[in-house]
Amino acid sequence: MAARIDELMAAHSGDAPWVAFEYYPPRTEDGVNNLKKKMPRFKAQKPLYIDMTFGAGGSTSDLTLDLCKEAKAAGLEPNMHLTCTNMPQEKIYEALEGAKAAGIRNIVALRGDPPLGQERWEAVEGGFTCALDLTKHIVKTYGKDQFCISTAGYPEGHPGAIKKVAEGQELSDKEKRRVVSLEDGDYVCSDADFAKEMEYLKAKVDAGASLIITQMFFDVDVFADFLEACKEYGITVPVIPGLMLVQNAGGFGRMTAFCKTRVPTSIREGLEAVKEDDAAVKQFGIDLGAKMCEQLMALGCKGLHFYTLNLEKVTFGVMRKLGLFDEDAAAAAAAAAEPAAAASAGAASA
Ligand SMILES: Cc1cc2nc3c(=O)[nH]c(=O)nc-3n(C[C@H](O)[C@H](O)[C@H](O)COP(=O)(O)OP(=O)(O)OC[C@H]3O[C@@H](n4cnc5c(N)ncnc54)[C@H](O)[C@@H]3O)c2cc1C
Repeated sequence: MAARIDELMAAHSGDAPWVAFEYYPPRTEDGVNNLKKKMPRFKAQKPLYIDMTFGAGGSTSDLTLDLCKEAKAAGLEPNMHLTCTNMPQEKIYEALEGAKAAGIRNIVALRGDPPLGQERWEAVEGGFTCALDLTKHIVKTYGKDQFCISTAGYPEGHPGAIKKVAEGQELSDKEKRRVVSLEDGDYVCSDADFAKEMEYLKAKVDAGASLIITQMFFDVDVFADFLEACKEYGITVPVIPGLMLVQNAGGFGRMTAFCKTRVPTSIREGLEAVKEDDAAVKQFGIDLGAKMCEQLMALGCKGLHFYTLNLEKVTFGVMRKLGLFDEDAAAAAAAAAEPAAAASAGAASA
């Protein structure tokens, strides 16, 4: 029976946190088939839900829905991303009707990034201009019960609101905790801009978002400040930390620069020391991810949302380190996927 993830969260009990895995629709047919084949392995770890992203510029509209249906067929609870980029209202309608018909109960309502090669975000004619518009539209069209809507939250401010610190500019204590050092200088979402971000986030929640999934962050203190800010602005829905684990040094550098993410010096230096050794980078990602998860649980987080980038080694490594990984279920899923291989391996080891 398909369920809303806000209800699943409320029903979760026990001390161990729940986990969720996020995937993106692969670009090739082989990639898509591979992701489908891996679904029973994800299922074995009992994620509360799985997210399927929506390609930049609306490029994966059908595939995102198809993969959500596939996930449902595999017994997973899909949380389907939907963005406004290049999406006239008819296409939004098709995507939402498709989700409804397939029994998908969870939607991440987003504005979206500009399509590749385009710097500024622009609405299509007659389309929605922001996640708030899309959220209002979903609630107006379907009421509050049909879909559980998630919205994006930015502990450091949205990248568009993170601006270069001018020479001689004095930063407040809060700004100092958010400041991001990039190659060409320091950047920060000012207190005034941060207040606008929080007011806008509150508006998205008031419009019907039942939970907030955050942008990646690497400084848990910044996330703790964000939780406090949510309280201050009267935002009472669950705030789920979005965890981007370090999987390779180059990708980490590109992504954190693109999103203007604050990276504490100890993490930058630790990664620098191992960056030439792929296995050591992955181990670094596992150790750092597990440490951050422990800090988040100490802050009271009941769930951990992993941006997997469709890779499982580091995510599962973090779960193992936290004692959240079910080895027996993983072995059973592997045996079910490869019965012949497992049988011959068993015979060989007997
Ligand atoms: C959890 C998560 C999942 C994501 N998944 C995807 C995905 O699947 N596909 C994809 O392409 N991208 C995805 N993104 C990236 C996201 O699309 C970009 O960050 C995009 O630039 C903003 O989308 P949003 O929904 O946060 O936008 P919005 O919430 O609309 O706003 C982004 C920012 O714009 C400003 N703003 C916009 N409208 C207003 C307004 N009316 N009043 C005041 N301020 C306003 C605010 O500063 C706000 O923080 C994801 C991001 C997150 C955090």
